[in-house]
Amino acid sequence: MFRSTLLAITALITLIGTVSCSKAPTPSTDPTIAPPPTLSETPTTNPTLEALIDSALTDPYAYTKLAELCDEVGHRLTASPGMKRAIAWSEKSMRDAGFDSVWTEPVTVPHWTRGNEWARCTAPVEFDLAMTGLGLSDGTGPNGIEAEVMAVGSYEELDARAAEAMGKIVLFDMPWKGYGSVVKFRTGGASAAARHGALAALVRSAASVSLGTPHTGMMSYKDDAPRIPTAALSVEDAGRLRRLADKGLKPRVKLYMEAKNHGETTSYNVIGDIKGRELPEEIVLVSGHLDSWDVGTGAQDDGAGVVLALASARILLKQDLRPRRTVRVVHYTAEEYGAPGGKAYLEAHRSELDRHVLAIESDSGAFAPRGFTIDADSVVVAALAEATAPLARVAPAEWSVHKGGSGADIGAIVREGVIGVGHRVDTTHYFDVHHSRADTFEKIDPDYLARNVAAIAGLIYLVAESPARPGSSPAGQLSSGGHR
Ligand SMILES: [Zn+2]
Repeated sequence: MFRSTLLAITALITLIGTVSCSKAPTPSTDPTIAPPPTLSETPTTNPTLEALIDSALTDPYAYTKLAELCDEVGHRLTASPGMKRAIAWSEKSMRDAGFDSVWTEPVTVPHWTRGNEWARCTAPVEFDLAMTGLGLSDGTGPNGIEAEVMAVGSYEELDARAAEAMGKIVLFDMPWKGYGSVVKFRTGGASAAARHGALAALVRSAASVSLGTPHTGMMSYKDDAPRIPTAALSVEDAGRLRRLADKGLKPRVKLYMEAKNHGETTSYNVIGDIKGRELPEEIVLVSGHLDSWDVGTGAQDDGAGVVLALASARILLKQDLRPRRTVRVVHYTAEEYGAPGGKAYLEAHRSELDRHVLAIESDSGAFAPRGFTIDADSVVVAALAEATAPLARVAPAEWSVHKGGSGADIGAIVREGVIGVGHRVDTTHYFDVHHSRADTFEKIDPDYLARNVAAIAGLIYLVAESPARPGSSPAGQLSSGGHR
């Protein structure tokens, strides 16, 4: 197994090396982190790859299609009419682009609707709150819920003051220290508060910057707590309620939500293949998720990823390139509900997972491209970093290919051993708009979008065209395989 990996690395490097006039690849001292190549060091003499990149950088297709998806299809909440339109749009787009086969695969998904909703501070001063119900929350009932607010900054504080929570609306007002540090209050805050007798839970939006906009996202109920309604407030309104509470002014809030869970229904992943010319049974998978939240139009999350997958495969056809292996585009459904689309893809394709050479997912927006993270063992990481070095020219600044996570949807097949690739971009402003009404088409920079098409098209071309595959073993298995 180890020897086949070495052969594969050699083959991948050969694809670059035959056209590179300069140095032989030098193994990095830390194989998990490839040094970011400077433009002057980047081998740039593969004319086919260079023409592909040039074409992608000047092609308006991705920008045009993303406008169409955001403005004409609109939001794509799972199981909504918009998502049904989006599935039809995706199928038609792949056919129009000239894919060889296009089909859908069923996925069992939650069906949730928001309905009308509002929240208002009723004492000690009256003012409307900028709120958005959290996805999969129950509603308040027709009379709403009015109660005093108990504001806490952490689960520890909630536990320490648990006796105060009975009959209150608990507000989690935690400081932003990155998405990972605050999202747990959005997903788990309702059940944590309900365990202590709270009537509803509010959470400060998980946002890096706020201009008064609340940010939604999935929540989930735990079985050991009553189901209480939960919503996000704008950062500003959460802060104001917190200051009133901390001053002992006992703010009261009335919350009204028609949100409803309707059980499960069927949605669809959309899949399209460009058949490989020599090894059509081997698959290079490129993906994004078609669903979005019902606020805004899901431009960065994840209209960008949907269009990047579509456009990076299509640009191969535009350049008359039909790589050795099949390039497969997957537009997953219901990522925002915990990625059942990715799990359904795994179950439908479990018997052919070993034919999946690599899977990439783009789900961080179309900001300045920065490289890729590779979810595989360090030998594969080093091989892909070396092979994709010529793509550094598309990055306006930093470029790095190193070990790291891949994506929520492809995670299901990556955990089974498929090489996973995450699409790296500058996420400085991603959580300014993420899951909010502000995630709309004008936040898309056409130059960055085109650069990302070039980066992803280059990666899938290199891997699909390489004489040998970079390997398909899960992390750790390659090295242990050497001892068998
Ligand atoms: Zn997303």
